Amino acid sequence: MRIKDNLNAVTLNIHKACKKVNRDPKEITLIAVSKTKPNEAILEAYDEGIIDFGENKVQELKDKINEINKSDPAIHWHFIGHLQRNKVKYIIEKVDLIHSVDSVRLAKKINEEAKKHKVYCDVLIQVNIAKEESKYGFEEENTLQVIKEIATLEHIKIKGLMTIAPYTDNPEDNRENFRKMKDLYVDIKSKNIDNVNMEILSMGMTNDYEVAIEEGATMVRVGTGIFGKRKYV
Ligand SMILES: *Cc1c(COP(=O)(O)O)cnc(C)c1O
Repeated sequence: MRIKDNLNAVTLNIHKACKKVNRDPKEITLIAVSKTKPNEAILEAYDEGIIDFGENKVQELKDKINEINKSDPAIHWHFIGHLQRNKVKYIIEKVDLIHSVDSVRLAKKINEEAKKHKVYCDVLIQVNIAKEESKYGFEEENTLQVIKEIATLEHIKIKGLMTIAPYTDNPEDNRENFRKMKDLYVDIKSKNIDNVNMEILSMGMTNDYEVAIEEGATMVRVGTGIFGKRKYV
C-alpha cells in the first residue's frame, strides 16, 4: 500500500515537472532504485506498473535477478553503481543498461565480456559534474575525448550520459549541475560520433528529480521516494 502511494506521488510530481517546462511525461523513464530492498518490494512496484529497476551492487543484483526472473522476466535491470572490472562478467548478459562507465579500462572490459558472450552492451558515460572528490565519473572537460575513445569499442553502444549530483536538501542547488549536463549532452550529440546515440540523460534522485526533469533528464533514479528510507547494516 505504501509503495503504491509513493509511486502515485512520484508519478504526479513527474507530470507536474513536465508540465512546467512543456515536456511529454512519456519522455521520462522512472527507474525504481531497489538497492537494499527485498524482492517483495520490487514485485509490489512491478504490480503497480514499474518495469525499470536500479541496483548498485553486483552480488545483490545477481541474487535478485535469479529469484525474480523465475516468476517474471519482463523487468529491465539498470546497473547504477561503481562497477569493478572483475565483476563485469556476472552482469553482462543480465542488465539492460550500465549507467556507470567511469573509466576507459572498465569500458574495455565490458567490451571484451560482451564480445565473449556475443552480445552488445548499452552504456551511459558517468560524469562527475560537480567535481566531487568522493564521486566516480569523468570530468566534464574530458568527456568528449573519452567518448570518442569508447565509441571505437565494437560491442559497446553509448546511449548517453549519467551523473550523481551532490547530495542536497535543496534541489535548486543542483539546477546548475543539471543544466551543465544537458549542455554537455547536446554538445556531444551535435558531434554525430559514429556508434554514439545520445538519447538518454540519467540524472535526478529522490531529492531533486523534478529539477532534473525541468533541466532535461530522460531517466530519473528514485529510491527513497518510492521504497522509503534504506537501512544499512
Ligand atoms: C541510491 C542511488 C539512487 C537513489 O537514491 P535516492 O536518494 O534514494 O532516490 C540513485 N542513483 C544512484 C546511482 C544511487 O546509488
